[in-house]
Amino acid sequence: MTSFPYLEYTLASSVLVSAFQHYLVWRQYRKFAGRDVPGELRGQVPPEKFAQSQAYGRERARFSLIAGPLEEGMEWAALYYGLFPLLWRVSGRLPGRWPWPSGPAGCEYARLLVCFGLQYVISTLSTLPLRLYSTFVIEVKYGFNRTTAAQYVKDVLLSAVVTAAVGGPVLCAIHWVLARYGDQAGRLWLYVWLLLAALAMVFSVLWPVLIAPLFNDYQPLPEGALSSQILSLARSVGFPLRKVYVVDGSRRSSHSNAYFYGLWRYKRIVLFDSLLEQNSGHEERIVAVLAHELGHWRYRHTLKGMALGLARLGLYLKAYAMAAHQHRDLLLAFRFAPADFPVPSLFGLLFFMEMLAPLDNVLNYLLNAVSRRFEFAADAYAQRIGFRQPLREALIGLHIDNLSNMNPDSWYVAWNSSHPTLVERLERLREEGEGERDGKPKQN
Ligand SMILES: [Zn+2]
Repeated sequence: MTSFPYLEYTLASSVLVSAFQHYLVWRQYRKFAGRDVPGELRGQVPPEKFAQSQAYGRERARFSLIAGPLEEGMEWAALYYGLFPLLWRVSGRLPGRWPWPSGPAGCEYARLLVCFGLQYVISTLSTLPLRLYSTFVIEVKYGFNRTTAAQYVKDVLLSAVVTAAVGGPVLCAIHWVLARYGDQAGRLWLYVWLLLAALAMVFSVLWPVLIAPLFNDYQPLPEGALSSQILSLARSVGFPLRKVYVVDGSRRSSHSNAYFYGLWRYKRIVLFDSLLEQNSGHEERIVAVLAHELGHWRYRHTLKGMALGLARLGLYLKAYAMAAHQHRDLLLAFRFAPADFPVPSLFGLLFFMEMLAPLDNVLNYLLNAVSRRFEFAADAYAQRIGFRQPLREALIGLHIDNLSNMNPDSWYVAWNSSHPTLVERLERLREEGEGERDGKPKQN
């Protein structure tokens, strides 16, 4: 009996998904050639800023059209030529020579760590030239980059250390569950899912406290007009605010210019220093951005987003478990040899996830649609508690300062954007503002 052509199917479907995604980028690329400021933004965005954002967007889109296929091509080649099986064989020779934990079980964990470590190094180095070009050519050209070469090297090394410290134990834990409950196909997916869900919860708490400070500097917001406005806003809506931090995020371009984290009654707010700089003299705009973030808190968007993400993961794991009897064929199709067995199920799980690329693409589309609804709801919340005008100004300012996409392609946004477009958000803020009195911010 010939088995299903897993590898061919995976490669073909990945190529199709990638072609579709690049078609979307190309559509957006063409929109970036436009010279006319969209109607809603006329009079709000200076034409030269619009032209600059178009040029920046066009350059990034062009980069993505070239870099995307290159990176994906390397991934497909790795799958086709069996990079993972090769690394598994190579790493099998190493543990015997070094003082690894004794016994075959200990050896297997060590071998897995070596194998995935090698894979990490290869994938990091192979994509490094493209990332260097992005940071030190494109970002420099538009004045966004503040990273020095030394800082960049430090970041790459630190990321590797953090990946090893966090990813290593996670990898071992998944391997442990798969090996221990591998014979219970019916419930295996549930055990793996519970493990990953628990890890997601733990990291959402520990990440901002333990990991994020390794990469950035977090300082408490100095007392003053801004901090008292923020505190009184938090108090007026019942947000259990413990502390406000300023992060030196300016050296890395990022979408989130303010966010909150923390469990139950220990919430913290983080503001990017660039947000403070760009809005100095307009503190009400910063407070309006926070009012939007508080909307996310009020409607439990973080929790809902996490639940959706975990539901997606559960679905994939369930599908993997249902195909349990095919695992050997799957591993063989992805270039493992009969002599390599027993092969950890972890590889089967990874290859299976690769096969789900088309489904993942569709689910991403749905999750982005949900995320955009959340953003509208958070805007509406900020508007309701009195921040319509400062939020409009803050959104326009953020787009100007980040040269964000002001002329989006509707298909591109529908598939790829977690946030609605600037024009949509301004229109919605206007519509919802009509019929309501545009009152002064409550806390003033
Ligand atoms: Zn938001």
